[in-house]
Amino acid sequence: MAEFNIIEKYFKHTPKNSSTRLGVGDDCALLAVPSGYELAITTDTMVENIHFFAGADPELLGHKLLAVNLSDLASMGAKPIAITLALTLPAADEVWLAAFAKGLLNLAARYQVDLIGGDTTSGPLTLTVQAMGIVPAGKALKRSSAQVGDAIYLTGSLGDAGLGLKIAQGYVCQNPAAALRRFHQPDPQIAAGLQLVDYANACIDLSDGLASDLGHILQQSHVGACLDWQALPLSAAVHTYIDDTGDWAMPLVAGDDYELCFTVGADKADEFAEICDFPCTKIGVIEPASGLRLTKAGQTQPLTVKGFEHFS
Ligand code: ADP
Ligand code: MG
Repeated sequence: MAEFNIIEKYFKHTPKNSSTRLGVGDDCALLAVPSGYELAITTDTMVENIHFFAGADPELLGHKLLAVNLSDLASMGAKPIAITLALTLPAADEVWLAAFAKGLLNLAARYQVDLIGGDTTSGPLTLTVQAMGIVPAGKALKRSSAQVGDAIYLTGSLGDAGLGLKIAQGYVCQNPAAALRRFHQPDPQIAAGLQLVDYANACIDLSDGLASDLGHILQQSHVGACLDWQALPLSAAVHTYIDDTGDWAMPLVAGDDYELCFTVGADKADEFAEICDFPCTKIGVIEPASGLRLTKAGQTQPLTVKGFEHFS
């Protein structure tokens, strides 16, 4: 199947977002950015055998490829409007293409995100999306603006995607479905990000694990933090995993949760608590001393990946 036929059959998409002036089919697509807004742009690539196993379900891959990109927009407080898709395919496998397009375009439709262009080449299976969103000018949520005294919050729950990966690798769990879904089909926290532009000082989405991702906020904001183990929002399945294995650090270091970790200043805390209409938990506080610390069973210790052994 020729490149043009692939695009025509699987990725021809009728634009639905009012920002799209010109979609697939010309040398460039055209987007209108409403006045008073900035364009937020991000891209993420998934490579076979690096980011996913050979033979992975293409519908899940389509979902996850878009979800991880939309999650980056969510963490900036941007509203997604459009994506481009660069596909490198070893062969034009129509069954694979149909399922991949379904996973990607179903999630795109949920947020009225248009597929406005891309590139299709032949080679080792490599999947790239670039996502674009709009955010009120000057309001984007950066990693660099956490303030000493801010409360640290997390949307949703922590470690379920990490548990999903353990299950995919052979860990036996009573109710695997929810954790597997979190691993394969993360939900980008778009609605939370849109609310947070008026309340959060800093924000990041959890792709590499809380310790590592929150570490980026701390470094770029020149602050430190202390987390409260007791406060971490862990599902019953994650608690059971920890009881079974003793691997209590898993929710702090496992990636792929795609929840938002953000900080809110004391001046906005009450108002935020009132308007917040998504699940979220206060897990710690921003402090002046650099580095990340954890309070667990009455002890506060530095929390570097090496530092985990101090708690054992
Ligand atoms: P060019 O040679 O000008 O780069 P292409 O032949 O690569 O054009 O692409 C033709 C049109 O199809 C362009 O509008 C491009 O954005 C779009 N396109 C190519 N591949 C994809 C894809 N995988 N998904 C969506 N649109 C695509
Ligand atoms: Mg091209």
